[in-house]
Amino acid sequence: MDYKKSERLNNLSYAIRGPIFDKAQALEAAGHNIINLNIGNPAPFGFDIPDEIVEDMILNIRNAQGYCHHLGIFPARKAIMHYTQQIGIQDVRIEDIFIGNGVSELIVMCMQALINPGDEILIPSPDYPLWTTAVGLSGGKAVHYVCDEQADWNPDVADMASKVTSKTKAIVLINPNNPTGAVYEKDVLEQIVKLARENNLIVFADEIYDKILFDGNKHVPIASLSDEVFFMTFGGLSKNYRATGFRGGWVIASGAKEKAKSYLEGINLLASMRLCANVPTQYAIQTALGGYQSIDDLVAEGGRLRKQRDLIHYRLTDIPGITCVKPKGSLYVFPKIDMKKFSFGTDEQFTLDLLTEQKILVVPGSGFNAFDKDHFRIVFLPNAETLDKAVDGITELLDEKRVN
Ligand code: PLP
Repeated sequence: MDYKKSERLNNLSYAIRGPIFDKAQALEAAGHNIINLNIGNPAPFGFDIPDEIVEDMILNIRNAQGYCHHLGIFPARKAIMHYTQQIGIQDVRIEDIFIGNGVSELIVMCMQALINPGDEILIPSPDYPLWTTAVGLSGGKAVHYVCDEQADWNPDVADMASKVTSKTKAIVLINPNNPTGAVYEKDVLEQIVKLARENNLIVFADEIYDKILFDGNKHVPIASLSDEVFFMTFGGLSKNYRATGFRGGWVIASGAKEKAKSYLEGINLLASMRLCANVPTQYAIQTALGGYQSIDDLVAEGGRLRKQRDLIHYRLTDIPGITCVKPKGSLYVFPKIDMKKFSFGTDEQFTLDLLTEQKILVVPGSGFNAFDKDHFRIVFLPNAETLDKAVDGITELLDEKRVN
């Protein structure tokens, strides 16, 4: 008899490394050059980790040989605590900070520690799909709320409110957003806080892109807006510091912590079961959070990331049949295809054709649990020349498949 995966894993997926990614790998193995616009992984595109971070990690490697406390090393947690003070999240103590092997591990841990069978979690649509998968893995039900493209992809709070039931336990926010590039407006965040307060819901705020902001847009950490709601705020080294391979992230408990004693005990248990997070990486956290922030140069006018954001947005919106909200933050654009103008039928078919015919890899919107099957996500980390080439390929495919 075959060994079968557990039933818990049925219906779970992670599109960013899903079947289309496997197909791209197979094409690459067969000798094709693929333009990879699918993963928010800065270093391979020449966005190196700041030297100071790497040097401090090397310097401390001998101190990092053993396991550490299951919540993380003291200087790293202290630095994160100071960061919360700078960004206006009140009353965070060192024991409210949990360090993990990237935000990914902590998302799964936070869902596993919370969810009983059938519990519902409100998740944005489109989302970063790990959230939906982690809820499903934990036996819960991901209930997607609308992020409104007409409103610069801000969450539709009325839709969110209409989906609250007696089983709803929490709201997830991703701000700045992957995949849409949205940075949420303060009044929208205030409405979400009100909704959470009135319905006794936890707010999980995935703010891993909080320093990747364009055009002077300001990021408001939702946990800075109330002490009456219980918040878990996620951050890490992967994006702001381009250190995806280091696997370093954290989650900060704040606000109505008195209501979350048992839940936090649960997270403590799960954190201790895996002993501790990667220790050498934790030695990079204090250096990363303190002082000069090199990401500021990349997102400023004239900075490489900003120029690439402008280029991809300008070129995409020049294609008849494509519309695209300009990203205010993060590393992604999420263009919309006017499907009635083309013969693809679905976003998945479009991405498949783009891969097989043009050797360009993007992720379909449905991989982000988007309601409509007519978007795709592009990572604008590759250099201008590559982005130009990619848009040429997209244009060529769209022209070929144009029906009116
Ligand atoms: N959250 C969001 C919104 C992301 O986009 C990503 C990675 O792309 C993660 C979390 C995972 O980050 P980490 O590398 O810290 O696991």
